[in-house]
Amino acid sequence: MTIQLKETLKVLDQKHFLHPTSSIEQQQADGPAAIFTEGEGIYLKDMEGNVYIDGMSSLWNVNVGHGREEIAEAAKEQMGKLAFSSCFATFSNEPAIRLASKIASMAPGNLNTVFFTSGGSESNDTAIKLARHYWVLKGQPQRQTIISRTQSYHGVAMGATNATGLKAFRDFTNSHAPGFHYVYNQSARNLRDTIEQLGPETVAAFMSEPVQGAGGVNIAQENYFKEVREICDEYGILFIADEVITGFGRTGKLFGMQHYDVVPDMITFAKGVSSGYAQLGGVIISENIHLDLCELSKGTLMHGYTYSGHAVACAVGLKNIEIIERENLVENAAKMGEAMLEGFRVLQDKYSFIGRVRTLGLLGAIELVKSRETGELFDTLLSPIFVQETMKRGLILRTVTYEQDTIVFAPPLILSQAELNEMLRILDETFEFVRKNIVEKEG
Ligand code: PMP
Repeated sequence: MTIQLKETLKVLDQKHFLHPTSSIEQQQADGPAAIFTEGEGIYLKDMEGNVYIDGMSSLWNVNVGHGREEIAEAAKEQMGKLAFSSCFATFSNEPAIRLASKIASMAPGNLNTVFFTSGGSESNDTAIKLARHYWVLKGQPQRQTIISRTQSYHGVAMGATNATGLKAFRDFTNSHAPGFHYVYNQSARNLRDTIEQLGPETVAAFMSEPVQGAGGVNIAQENYFKEVREICDEYGILFIADEVITGFGRTGKLFGMQHYDVVPDMITFAKGVSSGYAQLGGVIISENIHLDLCELSKGTLMHGYTYSGHAVACAVGLKNIEIIERENLVENAAKMGEAMLEGFRVLQDKYSFIGRVRTLGLLGAIELVKSRETGELFDTLLSPIFVQETMKRGLILRTVTYEQDTIVFAPPLILSQAELNEMLRILDETFEFVRKNIVEKEG
């Protein structure tokens, strides 16, 4: 029965469902990699009854874990009372007001006012548009350019795509919008040089993730963001932190920029604000920007999504944040992140083809290399094979293969030591398999 249903769904999927960020070739050849039916804690179950550890919190987002009844209850209650009403034209609703205030109370420094969206891409497009609008209001409309980093990922809406440093996302449609520039990851000096070349009076904002996610869990050098903040201040440029992955506890602090003691002018967020129980994101803007908007804006803010301030999504966000606070999940992410790094180091000692390893909270990466000395990669990249093998053993992970061969990790923030041990055991078994069957054979 299940086999028959799976076959039916596979055919329907192949014919009717164009999947986001997926290989069409693979879908047409094999059908969906898994059809999930249930989730509980850090585990996902597929329709055949296979159980997997969700080592990526699905898409770096299911931070409080799957199957939270109380979030379902909060959504149900709000949906029964008022599922949706407009927030355009100054209409409002209580969950949106309460969530905006709650987020303002959690955000660092003077970041105090929230614009809501339905996800990360919309949030980054909003931040880009707000930055440009801000400069129009301030009488410097030529400040249009957005600078971001080469290994960055900011989403797939038009602005977010163009701000994304990973070139493959821009090459996809061969459309490269003017007004976007990219600086190399390594040093803040690159940012200064680029601003000088472009002319500071043309630059609206610099955008960066505190830790690059899709680019390979790249953790910046210690002083990088301090220097970035100074450079932005020196040239009067707005600093936008894309905390879509890092916000709401992922890195062991509420916001990733808090590791660097830096307060940006805007923070964009999504994922962890609702742990994926509803589509929700937003931009937190500083009091300074807000005061300027209040003073200088005449007429309508010409930007808004139908679902900005969606009552059910906001009720879900409030409940999710309540859980994060009640269960001390930010502290748990910090503690378990350390334990995960220790586990990675044990594996690194055991397997010579593990290169660098790193974590910040429960964001982690293991690089695979042919040579630790030169950083040379294997001719056939190992990480795609590796994650297929962990999946067979009940652990879902992701790879990053743009100019690297990296396995990335983002388990739910509820991770326990016993669950981490189980993850590490599967990793060890898979490394052993890859050594015997691939590395030793490649020579
Ligand atoms: N920014 C970052 C740092 C992200 O990781 C993502 C999603 N992975 C986005 C933006 C885009 O978010 P969404 O997919 O919700 O549009």
